[in-house]
Amino acid sequence: MPFSDAVDSRVILTRLRAALAESGEGQERLDRIVNLIADGLVAEVCSVYLRREEQMLELCATRGLNPEAVHQTRMRVGQGLVGRIAELAEPINTPDAPRTKGFRFMPETGEEVFSSFLGVPIQRLGEVLGVLVVQNREAREYTDDEIYALEVVAMVIAEMAELGAFVGPGAMEIARPHKTPFFVRGLVGQEGVAEGVVLLHEPQVLVNNPISDDPARECARLRSAIVALRAEVDQMLAADYLTASGEHRDVLQAYRMFAHDKGWVRRMEDSIESGLAAEVAVEKEQSATRTRMSRVADPYLRERLHDLDDLSNRLLRLLAGVDANSGRDIPENAILVARNIGPGELLDYGRTLKGVVLEEGSVGSHAAIVARALAIPLVIQAARITREALNGDVIMVDGDQAMVHLRPEETIARAFREKVEMRAEAQHAYAALRDKPATSRDGITLNLHMNAGLMADLPSLSKCGALGVGLFRTELQFLIRTTVPKRTDLAALYAHILDSAGDKPVVFRTLDIGSDKVLPYMKRGEEPNPALGWRAIRVGLDRPGIMRMQVQALLRGARGRPLNVMFPFVTESAEFEMGREIVLREVAREKGLGNVLPAGLRIGAMLETPSLAYAPDRFFELTDFISVGGNDLKQFFFAADRENEKVRRRYDSLSISFLTFLEGIVRRCAAHGTPLSFCGEDAGRPVEALAFAIVGFRNLSMRPASIGPVKALLRQIDFEELRAVFDATRAQGHRSFRPALEEWLAARGFQF
Ligand code: PEP
Ligand code: MG
Repeated sequence: MPFSDAVDSRVILTRLRAALAESGEGQERLDRIVNLIADGLVAEVCSVYLRREEQMLELCATRGLNPEAVHQTRMRVGQGLVGRIAELAEPINTPDAPRTKGFRFMPETGEEVFSSFLGVPIQRLGEVLGVLVVQNREAREYTDDEIYALEVVAMVIAEMAELGAFVGPGAMEIARPHKTPFFVRGLVGQEGVAEGVVLLHEPQVLVNNPISDDPARECARLRSAIVALRAEVDQMLAADYLTASGEHRDVLQAYRMFAHDKGWVRRMEDSIESGLAAEVAVEKEQSATRTRMSRVADPYLRERLHDLDDLSNRLLRLLAGVDANSGRDIPENAILVARNIGPGELLDYGRTLKGVVLEEGSVGSHAAIVARALAIPLVIQAARITREALNGDVIMVDGDQAMVHLRPEETIARAFREKVEMRAEAQHAYAALRDKPATSRDGITLNLHMNAGLMADLPSLSKCGALGVGLFRTELQFLIRTTVPKRTDLAALYAHILDSAGDKPVVFRTLDIGSDKVLPYMKRGEEPNPALGWRAIRVGLDRPGIMRMQVQALLRGARGRPLNVMFPFVTESAEFEMGREIVLREVAREKGLGNVLPAGLRIGAMLETPSLAYAPDRFFELTDFISVGGNDLKQFFFAADRENEKVRRRYDSLSISFLTFLEGIVRRCAAHGTPLSFCGEDAGRPVEALAFAIVGFRNLSMRPASIGPVKALLRQIDFEELRAVFDATRAQGHRSFRPALEEWLAARGFQF
């Protein structure tokens, strides 16, 4: 029997909708569907295969094949023509099925008499849920129109499956990826563990009505959504929204290019013409994009396809009138899942979140800085997570190991919970040490301070037992706003911080921007090497307006109390002297205005470049204190970008060369009586903290959560014994202190 020449998918879809509206169980619905597709496409066979297990497809309904084979015939993904369609997510169209590569004879179906074969994947958003097949006796190739019509019908079946239309007694549970456990290992953004439920930053849109009988109206909806989408993208570009959104300019440029892509829009309009609702037309394109995405090896192209996928999500939300963030209930134990997120958006969620998992992100990104400030576990570079996770899914985040378990099996969940419990017990033990000194068995005491960046961090000060705030990063208040904060607001904030700290000292670091921290409202040119570029005090000295304003806010916020101000990224002594001059001028000005001055003012510098270690003696005499910014110092010492995954772990802070260099800094400070501390992330790692203490550091500043572990380890140590191990390791010419140190700790049964 000839296959029809002109296929009108709209007629089939109209009948399909009527059939689906009738009551009945999932099996009845599927039976009706294969009948009407067979009729509509003049096919002798129409069959639906569904993915009943992750790697297994099952014949679930057929017209034309042996009915006995239904729910009996099964094939693995990749096996036979049907299995290959599921694997490749691509149609197979052949006039001679038995002679087509991959064909596998299934005697129970009686399909050997049908020569021509057309199968298309039933897929939604890039996930193959099953395969839809038509077959005819006569050897012929199906036309493009016929393939298209079958794809459109398959799209509707996929949407109906998502809505649960085929579920019923004894039948139709489809093994969708969204139902099975998913595990991914990303990169550590912030340590810690958390169990909770998924909260998608950009929720998916569920389509209730995939079939439309009014293409003109659907096209009009699509067009006005596209207009809104283009306006949104233009606005993002014009507002230089870059930092606030966490997006990069090239992403926005790609958005704009895709939003204006005529081919993309035309293909969606064609889908609407063939009877699909506008949302499903967008999803059909999105499915194709995702299939391509999984095949493209080139990282740049993959990124761009990712951008297109993002843009489709935005378009879907515009069509459905869903605002990603408004009016949502945030569950109590929410773990945020996003492709990427800006610092402001993350702060809006605030401490309601238990953890964050990002598909992208980098260690130094603003989101990571905020997550660190919020002290919640963060895993970055968690591939596919936004596609696998659904709102409300159980999720377990292990920020220590960078592991994410989505919908975990019971054994995994149990092991994870044990780990959480062990940590809780350890926290308990650390809490008991809160008021005890960080003193080794042989009497060496370290002063442990905490790092902070938000008002919300201050309550940790009394809880963790820190002696003060050794580093307050002031840039977060600047990064999360779209305009420069007001002096009065900043002064009030600084005053509030000092109020909360009580008698404990706080060291305020002046604005550290540039490099990765770009202010949305500060125009700056592209720099080939931002980490080596116009940043921190360099910006402050070239554009002193903001620096002066901040210094005024600090002086006023002190309200007559002691004030510690520190300049970031000082590379040579002249920079420090100029910065100091600015502060002293502002002090004089405040005095002239009759404003109350701080009770004591100390002006310090961060040592973050090797050059400053060799500054003239005068620098060490002039500065009131020095804090080693180990994160930056290490990247410049080893010439290894702290944000580049390829190199950032390549060199060890415990290398003898780095420790010897640090020891030199300690000696110079000691010679001039300059107070010295270490405030990079390494200070909070117990083993590293011990090594820094060995070379002479007595003041460390770290995340609040690290104070307990560092103190607990130190209190078990005989310091002089360990120092002898260090001296011997260096004398023997070893490259690193780590093996000897860890061996020494392990031999004594110390946990580290
Ligand atoms: C550092 O570089 O070690 C530091 C504390 O500063 P930041 O991490 O903010 O650059
Ligand atoms: Mg730094």
